[in-house]
Amino acid sequence: MPSWLSLYYDEPIEITGGKGNRVTDAAGETYLDFFAGILTNMIGYDVAEVREAVERQLAKGVVHTSTLYLLRGQVELAEKIARLSGIPGAKVFFTNSGTEANETALLLATVARRSDEVLAMRGSYHGRSFGTIAVTGNKGWKNSSLSPLNVHYLHGTDRELPAFRGMDDAAYIEACVADLRDVLATAVTDDAACLIAEPVQGVGGFTMAPDGLLAAYKEVLDEHGILFISDEVQTGWGRTGSSFWGIGNHGVVPDALTFAKGIGNGFAIGGVVARGDLMDGLTANGVSTFGGNPVSTAAANATLDYVLDHDLQANAARLGPVVLDGLTPLASLPTVGGVRGKGLMFAVDMVDPGTGAPSPKLAGAVLEETRRRGLLIGKGGLRGNVLRMAPPLTLTEEEAREGRDALVEAVRAVDAAAR
Ligand code: PMP
Repeated sequence: MPSWLSLYYDEPIEITGGKGNRVTDAAGETYLDFFAGILTNMIGYDVAEVREAVERQLAKGVVHTSTLYLLRGQVELAEKIARLSGIPGAKVFFTNSGTEANETALLLATVARRSDEVLAMRGSYHGRSFGTIAVTGNKGWKNSSLSPLNVHYLHGTDRELPAFRGMDDAAYIEACVADLRDVLATAVTDDAACLIAEPVQGVGGFTMAPDGLLAAYKEVLDEHGILFISDEVQTGWGRTGSSFWGIGNHGVVPDALTFAKGIGNGFAIGGVVARGDLMDGLTANGVSTFGGNPVSTAAANATLDYVLDHDLQANAARLGPVVLDGLTPLASLPTVGGVRGKGLMFAVDMVDPGTGAPSPKLAGAVLEETRRRGLLIGKGGLRGNVLRMAPPLTLTEEEAREGRDALVEAVRAVDAAAR
């Protein structure tokens, strides 16, 4: 296996089973899962509705036929997603992953605009393919500097960048818009094809732009006819609590929206939902052989129905503060640089208590401490020092308290040892 595939923990965890919002490892330990396979097991593990939908499909004897034939489950899913997207005349194309979804969206936008110039955000992550690495603004995840696109970076959602630290929301948005206008006036040779942005940067460390920033961007983009792609791979399906899509928090509807991860609750499926004219702008044949296959769409239809039937967006809105209010006091510790959250996405920045510099070492230490307390969390961020928590949307209040308390204890233990 390649050296760039890295595992969490000093001793890797081998997950062998799951039930509800917990997983079990090969050693028989059980963990409350506050990372859910990077937001993939969106409604937890071994969900009867999803298992039965998949088993019903398997029992029909058809795992795959390809999109050369009518796939009723795919059409049903596309109709639901088109409706939920709010995009007028929306059409949907299914892929196997978020990377492939973003590739497709970039293709639509660059073809529609006949431009290879693309705006992206510093700190972003959009995938591991040639095109999506090109719009990824996070060096740690950029395995090539070569690019099929001409990319210009906006400074993005990282409010800790020195020039923007301490600004209030309105001043920050104003500075960001001025930056966008400046990039368009001085750096972009043609009118650009699109802006691609995550409403909350996932891999970048759950950095959160003030609500309204992306609307302010869109106003400027519209003046130039530049398209807007919202990468909802981490922020879709009610994750942020206050809106079904991350972009909804900004009060705008994008031209294209990409999704993956949680929608299959573990089964491989992603896709793009876009304005019909953009989708139909591609004229040659196109296929993703396994994209939207009958098994993955059965899982995705069941997962999406579950999310809607149980109003899990409201659950995220209700339980987000239960966790965040408990984490917020950690911000006064010398080893904690910041705490933030939106719905069921939470981040804690670990810093060196002496210098205040980002500390990946302390973030790693917290991961080990949470493991000892039966809790799985993630880490990430541009500087590797961000603890990232995103439990399944099916989290219960009791589990919210349990996970929060285990995390608080773990951070406090690491803090005490670091002083
Ligand atoms: N976009 C975002 C925002 C992501 O977080 C990821 C995965 N971490 C991707 C795209 C790529 O998705 P995949 O790994 O399914 O290709």
